[in-house]
Amino acid sequence: MVPSGSVYYTQPTDGPALRVPVHGCLQIYGTHPALIQCQYCGQTVYTFPEPRAGALTILLSLLLVIWGCFLCCWIIPFWTNFGKDVEHRCPSCGYIVGVYKPL
Ligand SMILES: [Zn+2]
Repeated sequence: MVPSGSVYYTQPTDGPALRVPVHGCLQIYGTHPALIQCQYCGQTVYTFPEPRAGALTILLSLLLVIWGCFLCCWIIPFWTNFGKDVEHRCPSCGYIVGVYKPL
């Protein structure tokens, strides 16, 4: 029996097709909640996205300093969610199931 909502990869063979379940590996995450089957608890849930400072956040801050924003303007990228990495957590078990990195 094939559970609904799972992603499968079918290998090209001469014999019968071999179906290998892939849980979460092919999911492309963005900045919004994504419907997934959690690879840890098996529940089908919408992820809980949490923005975190990432490489692009630091790069934007450095660019602001280089462009002459010396006072506290370098901290603006850390206050906003623009350009931040987004960690997707399973609301059921709390594990991080994916990360969106804009850079
Ligand atoms: Zn889970």
